Amino acid sequence: MYTKRLVTGGTGMVGAAITADLKIGSRDCNLTDWNAVRDFFEAKKPQQVIHCAAKVGGVWANMNQKGDFFRENILMNTFVLEAARLAKVPKLLAFLSTCVFPDKVEYPLTEAHIHNGAPHYTNDAYAYAKRMTDIQIRAYREQYGLKYVSVIPTNIYGKNDLFDLENGHVVPSLIHRCFLAREKGEDLEVWGTGKPLREFIFAEDVARLTEWAIENYDEAEPIIFSTSEETSIKELAEMVVELLGFKNKLIWRSDRPDGQLRKPSSHDKLKKYLPDFQFTPLYEGLKQTIEWFEHNYPNVRTH
Ligand code: GDP
Repeated sequence: MYTKRLVTGGTGMVGAAITADLKIGSRDCNLTDWNAVRDFFEAKKPQQVIHCAAKVGGVWANMNQKGDFFRENILMNTFVLEAARLAKVPKLLAFLSTCVFPDKVEYPLTEAHIHNGAPHYTNDAYAYAKRMTDIQIRAYREQYGLKYVSVIPTNIYGKNDLFDLENGHVVPSLIHRCFLAREKGEDLEVWGTGKPLREFIFAEDVARLTEWAIENYDEAEPIIFSTSEETSIKELAEMVVELLGFKNKLIWRSDRPDGQLRKPSSHDKLKKYLPDFQFTPLYEGLKQTIEWFEHNYPNVRTH
């Protein structure tokens, strides 16, 4: 039995938004168990694999669980690519992240920069594990001629995200915390100084770009998925506050980390392939995400 398109991490934010014949989550196959992964791929014989599964988290989780982030990601990525090779999967796409880029580097970030220096210390364990996916893909392309590729999305947000208050990324954590503060009539705590800049991209845009890339993209070098528009954490917090109709004060917690100050990236390569792609504006994507959150609460992932 052949499965055309398999998505790992199928219950996650991006995986849920991609069209596929089979989507798997951690309950269906433990991707850190080599025998389980090999047997699964052998049985399903996919023709395309979109590998979204990863242990992910925001700046706090990345700083405090470096061992888990390194081990789980390097095992999953190594095993999924190797099982795909053994099962003769002709096309595979894996997700990297803008965390992979060096901390001290010329801006904007481009696909050619990945390995030129150490990543930021807050997420280096995750970043090095992800960098090895790029190495493995290049090695498999060179030695085995496989059409495996990788993509680098910037900060993704959207429906089905992990709304963990401590360990989530900034958008879902802030939405959840602001929702609770509004319900309880309390002030809203936001981390850091509000000055860092991020390029937020809507999960459904990433899903459309991924569906294009699995069919059409075949370079050894990754491709960055980015709007190339920076937004400060302060501006982000103001949009969340407005959309949730929150009326109290914002309290900036200086005991929580800022992380990297900025990581502006170039989408020149993407624009060369898809000059007319329309990104969902941040305000609109946040509006949809918040509507989804309020509609589904408390049945949202929070840990
Ligand atoms: P990063 O791009 O890997 O650093 O990912 P994050 O999603 O964790 O974004 C971190 C930025 O948002 C930092 O500047 C944080 O200080 C800021 N931030 C503000 N409030 C929060 C929050 O509640 N959770 C997280 N994760 N970050 C927050």
